[in-house]
Amino acid sequence: GLDYAERLARFLGANVEERVVHAVDGVSLTINPGEVVGLVGESGCGKSTLGRIMAGILPQSDGVMNWQGKDMSALPRAEAKAARLASQMIFQDPMSSLNPRKTIRDIIGEAPIAHGMVARRDAAEMVTALMLRVGLDPSYLNRYPHQFSGGQRQRIGIARALAVNPRFIICDESVSALDVSIQAQILNLFMELRQELGLTYLFISHDLGVVKHISDRVAIMYLGRIVESAPADAFFAAPNHPYTIALLSEVPTIKQRKRQFNPVKGEIPSPLHPPSGCHFHPRCPHAFDRCRIERPILREIAAGHVSACHLNEMPGKAASPAIPTTA
Ligand code: SF4
Ligand code: MG
Repeated sequence: GLDYAERLARFLGANVEERVVHAVDGVSLTINPGEVVGLVGESGCGKSTLGRIMAGILPQSDGVMNWQGKDMSALPRAEAKAARLASQMIFQDPMSSLNPRKTIRDIIGEAPIAHGMVARRDAAEMVTALMLRVGLDPSYLNRYPHQFSGGQRQRIGIARALAVNPRFIICDESVSALDVSIQAQILNLFMELRQELGLTYLFISHDLGVVKHISDRVAIMYLGRIVESAPADAFFAAPNHPYTIALLSEVPTIKQRKRQFNPVKGEIPSPLHPPSGCHFHPRCPHAFDRCRIERPILREIAAGHVSACHLNEMPGKAASPAIPTTA
């Protein structure tokens, strides 16, 4: 009989790579091989745009995106294509990203056939192996997306992404539309795949609870800029940026997860006309004159922990979280 696990491992086997990205208003975000980076922010902050640029779906307007240390825009065509295939995106709503007229077999098999990664006659076998790996019954090979539940459709989306042998997975709100119990199953699947395949993830979410659960490192984005990034432990133990602190003071409990995410006081300004100086100054309880004029840059405040706030240059002034209250 066929050893699906072995074939799949061989099919997917590849070396871990390094990816460095600078995109969206001078955002600097380095993602190391094998890492899970949680990218958090309110809707409209640019996190999906950054994810799409990293996935090669949107061109970057300026800045440099490096893939394994090389500028992506300067790569020869074949290498650029390989780099793009190596980055796959998994979206929030699998229904809108799966062609309703195609069977699961075609949806998952399409890209690897088109890119010459598998012969058409071998595609069903590969799709079967992928379906098993993501927890789908392979006897459903010829079914259509509407015949599956939301969680199963997300598994189909994951299998489709895995089919082109990616090294880097960008999850854009990939579990946000799912019930909490299904969320946990899909998150577990992501973490299993990371272990087995050495995958690297950018996990984009508005949900700090989910991010806390899976990330090695957390980056916070506000109006097109990363304002803080730190190893997850340090991030949750000693948050620094006033925006981060506002977000953390509002982490919803599991029951409240479905709530609309707009916890920080004040309207989110238009990203097209961001405030001067520190973009956060109109909503920041610590803002002072300099904040309205000068843009704070990311500075290292502890090992691997960077934050963009003028208070960090004023000894004893850095913002600190309010004592958490237990309700
Ligand atoms: Fe607040 Fe100023 Fe720091 Fe911006 S730079 S977060 S406005 S204190
Ligand atoms: Mg988005």
